[in-house]
Amino acid sequence: MKDKILKLVLGLLIAATVIIFVYRYTNRPVSLDSGYRLVMGTQSHIVIIAKNEESARGAVDVAYGRIEQIEDMMSFHREDSALNEVNRWASKRAVRVNEELFDLIKSAGDYWQISNGAFDVTIGSVVELWQNASLEGRRPTNEELAAAKSKVGFDKLVLDEANRTVRFKREGMKLDLGGIAKGYAVDEAVEALKEYGAVAGLVDIGGEIRCFGNPPGEKYYTVGLQDPAADDNIMMLLELKDKAVATSGNYRRFVFIDGKRYSHIMDPAAAGSSKGLDSVSIISDSAMTADSLATAVSVLGTREGLELIENLSGTEAIIIPSGNSQEVIKTSGAGAYIVPKL
Ligand code: AMP
Ligand code: MG
Repeated sequence: MKDKILKLVLGLLIAATVIIFVYRYTNRPVSLDSGYRLVMGTQSHIVIIAKNEESARGAVDVAYGRIEQIEDMMSFHREDSALNEVNRWASKRAVRVNEELFDLIKSAGDYWQISNGAFDVTIGSVVELWQNASLEGRRPTNEELAAAKSKVGFDKLVLDEANRTVRFKREGMKLDLGGIAKGYAVDEAVEALKEYGAVAGLVDIGGEIRCFGNPPGEKYYTVGLQDPAADDNIMMLLELKDKAVATSGNYRRFVFIDGKRYSHIMDPAAAGSSKGLDSVSIISDSAMTADSLATAVSVLGTREGLELIENLSGTEAIIIPSGNSQEVIKTSGAGAYIVPKL
């Protein structure tokens, strides 16, 4: 009798161990890297931790679906984007837009406000002027610059909240969301991943990055900041947890005219290319904030840029000025994210 009971208990124990083992094994979180994909005119990738392979693939598909939706809506280059519907008609009449686009334009207005006009999505006509002139291999003339400048200014935009419409006060004004849309898309992709049940992950669209949760066995996601002077060199490593980082800079995109390099970031006050900084990285909670402020600080320069970022809680800046000086300028809290060099 005793023997029988012992055998039964032993049998049950073995069965329980097998069940636990099988359960653990089949439910072990998996990591998945989407590999690089071209979206919003740049390279992107997503890495996630999810409860199983199927769920991970589903989450990545949903996140990319969301990014493509945003690109369709906000692209400056796509003729049929909702943004270009505004650019085509808003000088003539108030154009009704969807809630998402309206809210993003409103957010862009907040960054215009806090940056003293350095970040300005009404920069479109100036961006276009420089692009067209560079194709002809020349600098825009002073007359052209003055004309383009008169079409810039967020205060020349009429946003009607009740009817959700956008109208331009000047003929020929154009919105360009290139300094904010990638960051916004990163935030939305992160939301989509979380909603789908991803445990942790990181979304990168052209260097605009946000991560959530932690990679297996690690406390942080480690993100490398590129050296503006050398493409293949990582300048420093950041440890991030539930944070975003965005980098803007002269070294990333520019045009050459007469052998001179002009940044793709424009100073709205001058209607010309911003000169100051090689690279500006902003760490913040949202990628949209980091993206727009990185563009803003590139225009403002070191002194005003640092002042702006120091006044914002949870937001830090790491700046590399122009020239070969290897100098790194940071806000007071930025050091906490930087991995010390060995
Ligand atoms: P980013 O790479 O995020 O710094 O964004 C640069 C892009 O934003 C440019 O390619 C333009 O499309 C647009 N842009 C340029 N200058 C400004 C500015 N001062 N404010 C807002 N957007 C800008
Ligand atoms: Mg930006």
